[in-house]
Amino acid sequence: MTGDKAVGLVVIDLGQGREIKSGKRAGQISWTRQPSAHYECLVCGKHTDTVTGIAAVQKFISHISTTHRIACTATTTERNAS
Ligand SMILES: [Zn+2]
Repeated sequence: MTGDKAVGLVVIDLGQGREIKSGKRAGQISWTRQPSAHYECLVCGKHTDTVTGIAAVQKFISHISTTHRIACTATTTERNAS
């Protein structure tokens, strides 16, 4: 932790699927509902678009907090509020 207070939520839906037990795709997951994720900023209220798929979700959650903190409209327009 860096000491920053929480300013957003990464909302993750782990999806629904089952591991394939045999055949060419053994060990892979057969998804009936793909994992998905989006981010909700508690400062500016922005909800990002939802990303879908395990690779996209992993990539998304690895950077969204940092990315949004930079782009957050609440922090960039704060000085104009009165
Ligand atoms: Zn924000």
